Amino acid sequence: MTDNAGWVERAQGPFFPNIKPAEIVLTHGEGCRVFDADGKSYLDLTSGIAVSALGHAHPALTEAIREQAGRILHTSNLYYNAPSIELAEKLVASSFADMVYFCNSGAEANEAAIKLARRYHHDQGDKARFRIVSFEKSFHGRTYGALTATAQPKYHEGFGPMPEGFDYVGPFDLDGLAATVSRATAAVIIEPLQGEGGVNVPPAGFLARVREICDANGALLIFDEVQAGIGRTGSVFAYEHDGVVPDIMSLAKGIGGGLPLGAMVARGDVGKSLAYGTHATTYGGNPVACAAGNVVLDTIRAPGFLEGVRAVGEHLASGLRAIAGRTKRIAEVRGRGLIWGAQLADGLGFNAKDVVNACRARGVLTHVAGLDVVRFVPPLVLTEAEVDEGLEVVEEALTSLS
Ligand SMILES: *Cc1c(COP(=O)(O)O)cnc(C)c1O
Repeated sequence: MTDNAGWVERAQGPFFPNIKPAEIVLTHGEGCRVFDADGKSYLDLTSGIAVSALGHAHPALTEAIREQAGRILHTSNLYYNAPSIELAEKLVASSFADMVYFCNSGAEANEAAIKLARRYHHDQGDKARFRIVSFEKSFHGRTYGALTATAQPKYHEGFGPMPEGFDYVGPFDLDGLAATVSRATAAVIIEPLQGEGGVNVPPAGFLARVREICDANGALLIFDEVQAGIGRTGSVFAYEHDGVVPDIMSLAKGIGGGLPLGAMVARGDVGKSLAYGTHATTYGGNPVACAAGNVVLDTIRAPGFLEGVRAVGEHLASGLRAIAGRTKRIAEVRGRGLIWGAQLADGLGFNAKDVVNACRARGVLTHVAGLDVVRFVPPLVLTEAEVDEGLEVVEEALTSLS
């Protein structure tokens, strides 16, 4: 049996250097725990960046995938398949949307959202209305449209020229937004809770003002719920907290429970502009991925499940705040449901990555959101006992550094 060191050595050869995984090889998992090739176990407070919503080797999820894989793996969009129809019905029933487009990732869902927004105005005869407005610190994905909407210069560097027609405003800058959105704006795209940018929760009333500014200018509103959607914030969709309804929404990450699945959903009068032949992807609506998605949706919508997410999330947040009080090494704890960021205090001499490494060495997986925020996006099935176990390690790791 090859151990961590053996695999990691082999991994140094065949990959592009664009990723830099920790030097462990994960072999399997169960619930909120994963195991590496040396047999060491870890408490997983990242769920593979907010993906494994039901944890690892979830029995119903595994069975649904196994069952569907034994029937048919792929049908293409030349034919219907039952799991995708069922999942589309569930997304429509539990959101503002009337129409669903399935794809394979968050970036793809945002590409579809941007294309739909432009095409909608084109169909209205408003062909000059193509500009997309996004916010600094946002993250929308790495393909060209989504990347251009991602208002963080470090992700653009060396990849220009970027596609035309994108404008940026400061995070939560309403005056900037009002000054930027115009009759040339096709859509404003925003994460209702910023994930990668530092787990930034908008101030109360902010999203409502964004909606008003869009409406006043005839622009569409796109919510990127790739990270914040599907139960992550303690409601099925993050937009429910503020009661602000977008026109288009992108989903991915948690929706497939670990299989590659994305979706772009929209109101019907907007969605009809994604007319026959305008957009498609080979794997869209893959029956195995959608079979997984059905288990995820059924699980998070079951009575009591999201109350559990909110309760465990509050337990995690109050534990982090207690650590902040004791150690003075955390300046702020931000989040909602089961997405939390611990902003490190200034002048510590170490960064979030160091905390993540120190936690991992002690058997707990966490993640960063930028340089100075430690991010917690655990499986939604995390228990309070697991929170306590994880926080003990986080506090130890935090105080071990200097
Ligand atoms: C991760 C993420 C994306 C990109 O998703 P991919 O599946 O990596 O393409 C887009 N938007 C948000 C908010 C994300 O967190």
